[in-house]
Amino acid sequence: MRYLITGGAGFVGSHLTDALVARGDEVLVLDDLSTGNAENVADAVATGQAQLVEGSVCDVEMVDECMEWADACFHLASAVGVKLIVQHSVDSLNRSVRGSQVVTEGAHRLGRRLLYASTSEIYGKNGSSGLTEHSDRVLGPPSTARWSYSTGKAFGEAIVLGYHREREADTVVARLFNAVGPRQTGAYGMVLPRFVVQALEGQDLTVYGDGSQSRCFSHVYDTTRALVMLMDEEGARGTAFNVGRSSEITILELAEAVIERTGSSSGIQMVPYEEAYGEGFEELGRRCPDTTALEQMTGWRSTRGVEEAIDDVAAFERKRAAADALSTADGEIVEFSEGTAADPLVDA
Ligand code: UDP
Repeated sequence: MRYLITGGAGFVGSHLTDALVARGDEVLVLDDLSTGNAENVADAVATGQAQLVEGSVCDVEMVDECMEWADACFHLASAVGVKLIVQHSVDSLNRSVRGSQVVTEGAHRLGRRLLYASTSEIYGKNGSSGLTEHSDRVLGPPSTARWSYSTGKAFGEAIVLGYHREREADTVVARLFNAVGPRQTGAYGMVLPRFVVQALEGQDLTVYGDGSQSRCFSHVYDTTRALVMLMDEEGARGTAFNVGRSSEITILELAEAVIERTGSSSGIQMVPYEEAYGEGFEELGRRCPDTTALEQMTGWRSTRGVEEAIDDVAAFERKRAAADALSTADGEIVEFSEGTAADPLVDA
């Protein structure tokens, strides 16, 4: 099969690219490289089964051209990270809304199957244990940047599912809950890569608020498997599915686990939310998925815990730091590549 992956040079997209290449598919990655990175897909491209096209999902002509080549499309392109989203809410919204429109219309016009990667931010502040796909969205005002992102992604879901309902488009929605693993960058606020890098560098880990807020982290290996299974599953059409792991951990516990598993001597520094994200920021107390629908539809099960994710991120960041140190020592740039040949994240 041939797949178009928008945002395929990003964290989740690049692992999805590797997984599809590993099972023999061909992949066209469309990415504007705003938060993605060509290095993430360098190994996949080197196999000859994947190619990277630099461009925007708001470019109708380019999306159509890529869509025509493909049999199906994973639409992942989106702003990422709470920090980036609250700082650049207009760009995030524009790309989310316009991109979803262009990609959904293109896929429908050409009769291509479409999977839309949504987010657990959809649920907003609803802190119920075990959020199901029918749980309410609990949001603050749209003037709060965080909720405008949630609204933009909800628009994407609504258009993708609306096209199925009213125009018989072949679509499915995956709501991702806190995917973590190698290649995720801490630059946009994501907690695990930030904690791991801080621990490896011997800096204090910056726990925002009092650290009692909790999340359910899903190893990107499991997240990616779910995306492929949902794309392959005919019965999933026209429906949204939670994708995540249901084990909950507080952010303070996460910080302690990172320090322990990396053998770091770092301490923990509590940072007020306003200092981290600016005035008026709204935090979520907890966010935990019920994934029964996904499990029943596809047979998917979460297989890797947060400990494994910490270890994999630490191994990745150690390797990156070693490559950086080497390039500095030699006075030349050494291309960092994770390598896919014996990649533990990819099914053989
Ligand atoms: N967080 C933290 N320290 C950091 C970065 C994030 O304590 O250096 C917290 C953040 O406030 C949130 C949790 O970690 O409570 C998860 O943050 P992330 O941005 O990874 O995901 P999201 O908030 O979107 O679930």
